[in-house]
Amino acid sequence: MTGERLLDLWLVIFVVAGIGLGIMTGFFKARRIQPGRFRWTVLRNEAIFAGINLGVTAFTLGSIKTFLASHGFITFNSNPAAWWVIALEYAFYFVLFDTWFYWLHRGMHKEPIYTWVHKIHHKSTSPNPLTTFSVSPLESLVNGGFLPLFATIFTVHDATMALIVPTNVVMGLYVHAGHEFLPRWWNKNWATKWFITTTFHDQHHKYFNFNFGGYTQVWDYICGTVRKKYESDFESRKASRLKVAKAATSTASDTANATAG
Ligand SMILES: [Zn+2]
Ligand SMILES: [Zn+2]
Repeated sequence: MTGERLLDLWLVIFVVAGIGLGIMTGFFKARRIQPGRFRWTVLRNEAIFAGINLGVTAFTLGSIKTFLASHGFITFNSNPAAWWVIALEYAFYFVLFDTWFYWLHRGMHKEPIYTWVHKIHHKSTSPNPLTTFSVSPLESLVNGGFLPLFATIFTVHDATMALIVPTNVVMGLYVHAGHEFLPRWWNKNWATKWFITTTFHDQHHKYFNFNFGGYTQVWDYICGTVRKKYESDFESRKASRLKVAKAATSTASDTANATAG
């Protein structure tokens, strides 16, 4: 698939994922255990807002992309390339987007931009995957605008684009998962500790003025915005999970012994 088609696919993924999550929200809200808390008008307004958001963003980004591509500003390299060339190009995108995201995200925490743009995303203090798409259209444009800009300035291989396209949605869903899946050694290993965990971004939603990074914590580390207790919280959560698992196994073996005895 050519880079340009992949860019189209990226817009489709964005819209489909948004609509899919929107339908899921409605499905779960309508089946709440506390039905008194379900308000049809609230859900209707949320659905209208999400629809407008997705429509405006997809239309704007689609128009920008079409304009740039048809005027020859966005070009891709369709020649075959060694794996390490693709890896380097992808790493280059990764570092650049991480920088873009960190500084614009920090900027969005300043008033009045925070109230106008970023506050919607922070309505959720305990994120779940739906939080990924719960952003104002302006914020989607700021984050989504990076890729057309990147493809205009740099010419990467089609294969690199195939790796870049799913990255934002996958990372977004991962950092808003609400559950920590990474192993205990993650923050202790020099090679892995720079990549953010779900706990890292979860704490951003809980404590606001820390942990701004989107892919890595490098800029947070340089600027001193990593939450002081982040690593110890990650560690203690993992330790307590281990304890629970151990207790469950010993209870299970006790039961097994009792049954056997
Ligand atoms: Zn934020
Ligand atoms: Zn978030």
